[in-house]
Amino acid sequence: MNAATNSTAPATARAERQILTPTNLHDALVMRAEHPEATVINGGTDLMVDINYRRRAPELLLDLSRVAELRRRRREGAAVRLGAGVTFATLEGPPFLTTTPALSQAARTVGSQQIRNRGTLGGNLATCSPAGDAWPPLVAGLAEVEVASVRGRRRLAVSDFALGPKKSALAADELVVRVAVPTARGPQAFLKVGPRNSMVISIASLAVITDTERGELRAAYGSAGPVVGLVRLPLADARDLPDAVADACRPIDDVRGSADYRRQALRVLAARAVERCLR
Ligand SMILES: Cc1cc2nc3c(=O)[nH]c(=O)nc-3n(C[C@H](O)[C@H](O)[C@H](O)COP(=O)(O)OP(=O)(O)OC[C@H]3O[C@@H](n4cnc5c(N)ncnc54)[C@H](O)[C@@H]3O)c2cc1C
Repeated sequence: MNAATNSTAPATARAERQILTPTNLHDALVMRAEHPEATVINGGTDLMVDINYRRRAPELLLDLSRVAELRRRRREGAAVRLGAGVTFATLEGPPFLTTTPALSQAARTVGSQQIRNRGTLGGNLATCSPAGDAWPPLVAGLAEVEVASVRGRRRLAVSDFALGPKKSALAADELVVRVAVPTARGPQAFLKVGPRNSMVISIASLAVITDTERGELRAAYGSAGPVVGLVRLPLADARDLPDAVADACRPIDDVRGSADYRRQALRVLAARAVERCLR
């Protein structure tokens, strides 16, 4: 276990920032239990923005970036198990393009290459933003999140992990450790709309997953409600998906787009995604 002092704190900040740097998961969980007040950091691509804009000023950081267990990924039966520290850069390439295509396509759209090199799946989930790009593929894919503490581990459906914008089901002593994503059982697509192609928060996002085993089509939409929403339809009713998504979503007007625009954007994205998946 290591504790380091950050010498890069702004000159105006008087308090020194302490950083806990566990190198294995056991130590990380012990430190989390001993310091529930510590702020977790992995890639830092969300947290450092908050620190730089002085929205948060954590005095103690728990840095997970050296915990090798969190970067592991492996195929286990009909699911891919991804450590919370797996980056978008890893997810955008093989084998994920074929095993979990919607998630891989979403990873490809995140930020820039630098952000994808640092930004992690666990960080995206823990931030719990309805605009987080990992969310729609994971919700539509019926993925499960594994969280752990010194008390033990628990698994929950990814849609139960999000309680609201920036509010997750994570207890103060818990960490996101893994995500289990069922492998593709049919074509998948991820699409999003933003003011430009990259480096923006999406105005609307959508993942569509065809599940030939269950005979259903699932669509999960982001940036159009307090949490990412899910619509399920029998495969035979695929043509109804655009209207079903537009009816189910609960977008708001904000600086990035109006509720009407978002609803219409999702209708169009759903039609395109169905075309891609079922042509
Ligand atoms: C320029 C820029 C562009 C971006 N573009 C996109 C984009 O297109 N799409 C998108 O979805 N996001 C985007 N982001 C946001 C960010 O890159 C992602 O949300 C990323 O997945 C965050 O992961 P991280 O490891 O960097 O998280 P961090 O910043 O390290 O942490 C984020 C939050 O999660 C918590 N946390 C991290 N790991 C864990 C864990 N294992 N257990 C418990 N809590 C944890 C932290 O305490 C913190 O609250 C962008 C960010 C920037 C700066």
